[in-house]
Amino acid sequence: MARAHLTQHYEQLLGLEPPWRIQEVDLDHDATEVRIRIALTTRGRLRCPVCQALCGRHDHRTRRWRHLDTMQYTTILEAEVPRVRCQEHGVHQIEVSWAEENSRYTALFEALVIGWLHETSTLAVARQLRLSWDQVAGIQARAVRRGLARRVRRSPTAIGVDETSFQKRHEYVTVVNDLDEGVVLHVADNRRQEVLESYFEDLGPKGCAALENIAMDKVYRLLGRPIAMGYQGCNFTYGDTKTPVPIHTYASLAKQVVDRWYKSPGHKKNLLNPKFRRLGSGVGIDPNGPACGDFYLTQNFAD
Ligand SMILES: [Zn+2]
Repeated sequence: MARAHLTQHYEQLLGLEPPWRIQEVDLDHDATEVRIRIALTTRGRLRCPVCQALCGRHDHRTRRWRHLDTMQYTTILEAEVPRVRCQEHGVHQIEVSWAEENSRYTALFEALVIGWLHETSTLAVARQLRLSWDQVAGIQARAVRRGLARRVRRSPTAIGVDETSFQKRHEYVTVVNDLDEGVVLHVADNRRQEVLESYFEDLGPKGCAALENIAMDKVYRLLGRPIAMGYQGCNFTYGDTKTPVPIHTYASLAKQVVDRWYKSPGHKKNLLNPKFRRLGSGVGIDPNGPACGDFYLTQNFAD
């Protein structure tokens, strides 16, 4: 096959569009590798990846990406990728259509890895695609970030915070789940306290106020205090009976309190007294109490 035809075929297979063109296709039989050199055919100004403004060139970097194998040959794309200097955003590498900014794999290769990860273990994927465990984990982490970036921002009312370690390695990630919807809201690289705080910061004061229930492991602290949820309930106890308050949300706690009032003969008498037409109720929370804090309730009746 003529060389021109070969590069044209590879351009079509890669979906390359101007101003990118294939310069050279090299076959290294000893290394069982196909190397495809891609070059930019324009000398003009290029777009800042952040704001898309046309900018002057700063320099360029040689980049290599692993692509889908050609037959049994490892296939590598190579290009000199320019960096532009944007007046507003500084120096940035321009976007290329076949890969994410910091990846050493093309988007199609990453999609292949993710596809296989749905079918089998990280170890098996790494072995079959000749990758290291860390390389597979990196591709997976980028896919999770893309998924999180696409998600629609919502204010959850119940979240679960959990830590997960990768197999036997002592590396942890913190995962925040929406307990009602069963979807992942946030993933961060370790289990340090800052991770959770950054999520709450992200959520903003309005989002935090909408949270009614937080389930989490005791390594995390909320507003500087450890949250100790046991199976029996939190550390609240009822003042009169000293029995633990069952697991609650703010809404269910209010309902439990009203139920207790109803079951208390003195309260019930007042609640059912037709002479009383107005009811006032107040709640105070002392955040310095243990676990969720101490709370005080009062009820007043008037005719
Ligand atoms: Zn810019």
